[in-house]
Amino acid sequence: MKNLTKSILIALFLGIVIGLGLNLFAPEIFTPIDQYFFAPLGDIFLRLIQMMVIPIVFISIVLGVANLGDPKKLGRIGGKTILFFLSTTAIAITIAMSLAFLFQPGEYDPDLLNSEEATFEAEEAPSVVDTLINIIPTNPIQAMTSGEMLQIIFFAVFLGFGLAILSKKTDRVLRLFEQANELVMYLIQIIMYTAPFGAFGLIASAVGGAGIDAIMQMLAYFLVVLAGLIIHAIITYGSVIKFMIKKSPLWFFKNFSPAMSVAFGTASSSGTLPVSMKTAQENLGVRKPVSSFVQPLGATINMDGTAIMQGVATVFIAQVSGVDLTFTQIITVVLIAILASVGTAGVPGVGLIMLAMVLDQVGLPVEAIGLILGVDRLLDMTRTAVNITGDATCALLISESEGDVEEKKPSISDEA
Ligand code: ASP
Repeated sequence: MKNLTKSILIALFLGIVIGLGLNLFAPEIFTPIDQYFFAPLGDIFLRLIQMMVIPIVFISIVLGVANLGDPKKLGRIGGKTILFFLSTTAIAITIAMSLAFLFQPGEYDPDLLNSEEATFEAEEAPSVVDTLINIIPTNPIQAMTSGEMLQIIFFAVFLGFGLAILSKKTDRVLRLFEQANELVMYLIQIIMYTAPFGAFGLIASAVGGAGIDAIMQMLAYFLVVLAGLIIHAIITYGSVIKFMIKKSPLWFFKNFSPAMSVAFGTASSSGTLPVSMKTAQENLGVRKPVSSFVQPLGATINMDGTAIMQGVATVFIAQVSGVDLTFTQIITVVLIAILASVGTAGVPGVGLIMLAMVLDQVGLPVEAIGLILGVDRLLDMTRTAVNITGDATCALLISESEGDVEEKKPSISDEA
């Protein structure tokens, strides 16, 4: 794992140098190299990890819930998890909007809004009620084929719940899930050997594609989002670790950094899931059933980093459009961004699509997303690292507060 982190960091460094170098000194050859080398390299890696996302989320949640056993305990842990996710996301977006109001990254500029850059075609964002009802799948197989993560999670929790209640009667099925879990984890381990190549391709393509100009133009916005992400990670999570878990934040960040660097390299919470679970279990000592329940759930519905980007982006776009947000609009942004964070899938770039929903709700021009598109990839990488850190903090908190959660050993192994 240590070597993997090192290789990913070296690959990221090389990717930045080469991507930026090409952008500055040989922009004409950047496009073909990007098209035939950087982008495919990144895509191959992303596809490999995306291939594993549904199996791993499904299997780990079934196992996590089944191993928690007692339905009362499941309810308590589920309740605590959701409460933690919602409150930290609310804190994240409050930090983001406060910073954006304080530093005013956007200046009113009507020309900019009418410029070619501001052309983002928003997809239709789903309504809040639909999002909630849609969590129940009418066809779980279809949910899997179309990658509806919340539906898959709902079905997995339900299945795990059944396994926990039926206990001995279904322990062969539980055993099957345990073996499937071994298998999936092994496959992921193989895929992770290609992570440095993927990370190299992704960052070279992102930095080279954006270039210094795009970054300088949006520097104020970029820095405010970055500040929000760093403050949230250090202060919010740091305080939870220090005052609620009673451990050293330094110890936490040091031990969890391999997962954070993979999240940064991949910009995908779901893709990083196997590594973040393994790191939390092995380096932070999070109990397996808690980790297998909290982290896959978090990778799908808890996106504090994404909420921070959305908070800053909304205020930034309001400032560029010369709109003074009212108090009601600000509260609306906070609430909608929390929901948007739940609905954002843990794969690259989705946070930006969900931003359309937030802007739409407060009547801001959705096409202005085009302005921040250029620097989004880099921010996506950073916010993903924060997203998964929130999940791990929650998993550690719950694991420490639920002292008696242990993995249930299926009795079938004795019979067989
Ligand atoms: N890439 C982010 C994640 O996977 C989601 C987003 O903000 O686009 O956590």
